[in-house]
Amino acid sequence: MLSDGTHYGDELKDRIQPLTERTKLLQKRFKHKTKGSRSWRALKKQIAKLHLRIRNIRRDILHKATADICKNHVCISMEDLNLKNMTASARGTVENPSTNVRAKAGLNRELLLRAPGEAGRMLEYKLRLRGGMLIKVPPQYTSQTCPVCGHVSSGNRISQSIFVCEKCGHKANADLNAAENIRRAGRARIAGAAGSQELSPGTCRRAA
Ligand SMILES: [Zn+2]
Repeated sequence: MLSDGTHYGDELKDRIQPLTERTKLLQKRFKHKTKGSRSWRALKKQIAKLHLRIRNIRRDILHKATADICKNHVCISMEDLNLKNMTASARGTVENPSTNVRAKAGLNRELLLRAPGEAGRMLEYKLRLRGGMLIKVPPQYTSQTCPVCGHVSSGNRISQSIFVCEKCGHKANADLNAAENIRRAGRARIAGAAGSQELSPGTCRRAA
């Protein structure tokens, strides 16, 4: 889900789910086979083939989705689910900020939780080719923060899909809400890199 409400992930789910279910079934059967037997080997091959197919479908969809996103956005903020890499990429952002690009989308769950590393890498190089950048932000509290009043609580997220602020009552789709928080965190990071100059909405600037 992007902060503008664009939603990716359905195609991924629709195409991959039946295959993962089939894989699970075969794996269950595989356990009961005699190791090294002909049917054991045949089943092993079949499972490997399914894994490969799932990987290819995921990659194909991710390529299409990330290309689509990069067409419309030059500056993208994304939850960094790998905290170890976070400081490194944050430093990279400060040292190599891009000029005159439109800041927009905070990306999250639908696309990324399913393959965050891969999607992030694709976005990063595709954005770089176009002169943009990927901003990774810490994932903490992005799903628990109210973008209207700033109240942070795990109680704000009343279900997987619904966000209702305990304090001000702001109600939103939980993923969209998180995406908005990610977008803001990314913009704050760019503003920090630009010597805390006030940024106009939707604009990234080169650091002084
Ligand atoms: Zn609130």
